[in-house]
Amino acid sequence: MRLALIAHDHKKDAMVALAAEFADFLQRCELIATGTTGGRLRDELGLSRVHCVLSGPLGGDLQIGARLAVGELDGVIFLRDPMTPQPHEPDINALVRACDVHDVPCATNVSGARLMLAAWAAKMG
Ligand code: PGA
Repeated sequence: MRLALIAHDHKKDAMVALAAEFADFLQRCELIATGTTGGRLRDELGLSRVHCVLSGPLGGDLQIGARLAVGELDGVIFLRDPMTPQPHEPDINALVRACDVHDVPCATNVSGARLMLAAWAAKMG
């Protein structure tokens, strides 16, 4: 399973808590994350195999979108902050659009992400 993990600043604590909840499953996945999100997952949860791309505002969402568009990702967990304007809003929209274009599962809030992770974890046994 190849998953992308991205969280806006106000959602990073929630991402770390979610990843801790599913740590056993995530250890067995190939993970890619935007820079700051991935750094926190590595430092705080020991997910040492997470591959970090650029930070979101510097193009990380686009890097992840490019990989998704060529079939290199199976799912995206993108904890967006709906209350704070983001300088890279076009990149965020491009990534979510790429998920829809290629029919790749994408969760943009914790409840949806939990459902997706639970389903995948059950599928992988
Ligand atoms: P970050 O990027 O993980 O580097 O903070 C996420 C984003 O803001 O899109």
